[in-house]
Amino acid sequence: MENIYGIPCNIDDKRIRTIIAKVLERIQGNFSGDWKKISFRVTGFDWLDESNPEYTNTLGLCVQIGATALSNIYFSRRIIDFDDILVTAIIGHELGHAATSIVELKSREINKNPVYAELCASRYVFKWGFVREYIIFLLAVNSDQHYGGLPGDIFAIEYPDGERRYRIGLDFKPILIRTADENGQVFKTLPIYKIPL
Ligand SMILES: [Zn+2]
Repeated sequence: MENIYGIPCNIDDKRIRTIIAKVLERIQGNFSGDWKKISFRVTGFDWLDESNPEYTNTLGLCVQIGATALSNIYFSRRIIDFDDILVTAIIGHELGHAATSIVELKSREINKNPVYAELCASRYVFKWGFVREYIIFLLAVNSDQHYGGLPGDIFAIEYPDGERRYRIGLDFKPILIRTADENGQVFKTLPIYKIPL
């Protein structure tokens, strides 16, 4: 299989390859700093091994190679049945993981919850201008199949002393929101707004 913009690609579906190329083109043409990171860090695109039950609900995956900054990106063959808009959002999100720096991760980390990596990846999708695609994706895809969230969304993280609620800020940083209502009553076991997994 031919490389796409210098990145090895074992994806053998012509339409998916075209969409990967379009997303890369957008980043390369408009965000040179991010493109430098992606072109250096992404070692390839490949199909996900779907015989692994761990990936039953996974559509895309960005796997870091050891302790390096390098990562390989995988897509489920199920995305072949998805519209271009949804595929664009999935590709953008996984590339967002690859572009994320340690500093960005640290600034969003809360109680070791993996959601912070998702906030970082989503921020890149927005930065690169795939806002419409991402919103449609979040609305269209079953929440078991993705991590996501938009600025303004509220989610809860469990702590040993109870849950704390956060709002996703415009920069995709989690903002701790009030934990008590106007009467000073502490919120108890509110249903957890599921940051889709
Ligand atoms: Zn993700």
